[in-house]
Amino acid sequence: MPRIYIETYGCQMNVSDSALVLGLLRAQGYVRTDDPAEADVLLVNTCAVRDHAEQRVLGRMGVLKGFKRAGGVLGVVGCMAQRLGPALLEQVPQVDLVIGPDGYRGLPELIARARQGERAADVRFQPWEHYEDVPAAREAAGGGGGASAFVTVQRGCDYRCTFCIVPMTRGPERSRKLADVVREVEGLVARGTTEVTLLGQTVNSYHDGEHDFADLLRAVGGVAGMRRLRFTSPYPTDFSERVLAAMAQTPPVCEHVHLPVQSGSNRVLRRMLRRYTRERYLEVAAALRHAVPGIALTTDIIVGFPGETEQDFEETVSLVREVRFDDAYTFKYSLRDGTPAVKLKDRVPEAVAGERLERLIAVVRRVARAKNVALVGTTHEVLVEGKAKRGGLLQARTRGNKVALLDGPDEWIGTYRRVRLTGTTGSTFTSWPVAQELAVVG
Ligand code: SF4
Repeated sequence: MPRIYIETYGCQMNVSDSALVLGLLRAQGYVRTDDPAEADVLLVNTCAVRDHAEQRVLGRMGVLKGFKRAGGVLGVVGCMAQRLGPALLEQVPQVDLVIGPDGYRGLPELIARARQGERAADVRFQPWEHYEDVPAAREAAGGGGGASAFVTVQRGCDYRCTFCIVPMTRGPERSRKLADVVREVEGLVARGTTEVTLLGQTVNSYHDGEHDFADLLRAVGGVAGMRRLRFTSPYPTDFSERVLAAMAQTPPVCEHVHLPVQSGSNRVLRRMLRRYTRERYLEVAAALRHAVPGIALTTDIIVGFPGETEQDFEETVSLVREVRFDDAYTFKYSLRDGTPAVKLKDRVPEAVAGERLERLIAVVRRVARAKNVALVGTTHEVLVEGKAKRGGLLQARTRGNKVALLDGPDEWIGTYRRVRLTGTTGSTFTSWPVAQELAVVG
């Protein structure tokens, strides 16, 4: 049987797409290998959001080409493949095929052509493509094929944030049919999945005819056996009253939302073409806290966006303090060719952006630490996800997305436990089990 090796970079959407790719190739008789030395086909599923991510992939290509055997195939798929297209074939002569996120159906054909010595790129957008009939090989992709699973409900993006390459790499927004999503979730639950994360670039703008994201939450949350329902990433102003009500009234919906803000300055938000003001964002955060008491809020923040002044940056810092985020992914602005922001003047010097990033991280950590210290001593339901990286402990997650380590047997992996949080490093927790396995109620 031919063997496929795949490396995945970037977001959960890519993890989900790698499962699709593996599902497609499994149907062609391929089996997955974790050893590139024994692979017939080597694929890298790539991210294009930051220059650093692309440089990393290019570095990996330099290593992986050494594993390409006679008659073997080396391919680049995903967002970087879409962005660079045929140019990638020129840039890396050992690469045989380049396929964007809408072209995975053509993978077997391009692999066959590569075997005949033909090098090809397919980066056409297919606005109808949802891979509806492709059974994802989640367990093989490392996408939480056991208790947890990612389910893509929307592809592409119609927003045009000036810093973002995604509309160029993933094309226009389109949502799957609600009935198809529910059918997929029912199938997952029947095989033991109890936690589902719905994926979309602006997931809460999901729509299928008359159905909106509120309907989707209620329908998926209503599948018997579903215990936890998460979604990422929402757009701040797409939380309608209906969506807030659905979150509040659908028990599996977890008390955590990742709510990208990007900046706390209205000037910068305008230049980013984010469609909200600082004030509106604060209203949305308050509405979420009102609808779902105790909800944890995390965010994404970019510093050093063109034109960002010290005053703008201070407004971001003050927003972090005001919202009291549970955590934040913080980034130094990375210029991406093909995005509208390349035309913006007043670039922020690298050293200034770096210094702001350090200050921001310090504030984010202080705020998160204070919130986490206040949680020590409280009890939570956790899903045991696997082995922790160090110390022979298990790693588990609360509904509020806090990571807790606990001592227990491997058999606990995939089960729900009740734990008391006993300490925190500031970001993760130590915990102690206070009850036997919690039954999954359908
Ligand atoms: S909403 Fe903005 S940041 Fe998010 S994927 Fe779309 S363009 Fe990019």
